[in-house]
Amino acid sequence: AKEQGKNQYQFFNGEMDRIVLQKTIIETALHEAIEKKQFTLFYQPQFDGQTKELIGMEALIRWIHPEHGIISPAIFIPIAEETGQIISIGEWVIEEACRKMKKWSEQTGRSLRMSVNISPKQFLKENFVEHIYSVLQNTPLPPHQLDLEITEGVAVFNEQYTIDKLKQLKQLGVHISIDDFGTGYSSLSYLRKFPIDRLKIAKPFIDGITEEKEDVAVVKAIIVLAKNLKLRVIAEGVETLQQLDLLRSLQCDEIQGYVLGKPLPADVFEKTYMKNQLP
Ligand code: C2E
Ligand code: CA
Ligand code: CA
Repeated sequence: AKEQGKNQYQFFNGEMDRIVLQKTIIETALHEAIEKKQFTLFYQPQFDGQTKELIGMEALIRWIHPEHGIISPAIFIPIAEETGQIISIGEWVIEEACRKMKKWSEQTGRSLRMSVNISPKQFLKENFVEHIYSVLQNTPLPPHQLDLEITEGVAVFNEQYTIDKLKQLKQLGVHISIDDFGTGYSSLSYLRKFPIDRLKIAKPFIDGITEEKEDVAVVKAIIVLAKNLKLRVIAEGVETLQQLDLLRSLQCDEIQGYVLGKPLPADVFEKTYMKNQLP
């Protein structure tokens, strides 16, 4: 037993070393990626649940590594959060997404909405609101065309600080969505206190709605909750026509998912959805 314990200890130690090493490698590579501008944004369309009209898009970052190809944000965003590199990466994302929205607005004459993911560390940075303000001024982009997707996690650090910052953002005129709704912070009390516009129902609930009674019940309840609080509600990760039909019958306001459109590079997104509608 003693021998086994020792082995486990060694294994654990080795595994830890490997993880730490991997993190250090990614941190160094991220540093280079920031300098060499190896990031790009993909865009995924969001549609009105009833009219099926395009209403906006979500910007999703990709790292185009010269040797490893496209690296998913699921791998590097958590590390960038830990190292603080998310600040400069996140600022670039906001600037790039706003520039693109401006260009597409001019091209199409339509006023669509650009959703940008904001990680908690980024949101909690003291100059976050100022940065948003200066990007909107400089682009320039009408504030209502920018939607910030935050997670319930921002409330854990300091609820009053979060409320103050959200109020400042609302004063600017930007939209706020709660991403992955239902998976994080357990108390719903913040819904009354946070000046938000939209709930984004987390994908795990959507996955089960055509098979699991419980998931339908949860999704139904979230939609009713949103309506009663006068919030918009969007379902994400919608993959099948059955899920789509069910969500539409439940009066879900907005839909995003592979069944209607995958995230696409800017040029492909533009060719597919940004056809010139000006006379
Ligand atoms: P998220 O914000 O929940 O984004 C939704 C993820 O689900 C995206 O993965 C998207 O490509 C994927 N997705 C959309 N529709 C479907 C579907 O029908 N089926 C399936 N299986 N997946 C679908 P992606 O692009 O890999 O992003 C992963 C996560 O990385 C995001 O989750 C978000 O938390 C984070 N992320 C992405 N871009 C950024 C960014 O610019 N800044 C920050 N801070 N985080 C980002
Ligand atoms: Ca998101
Ligand atoms: Ca999400």
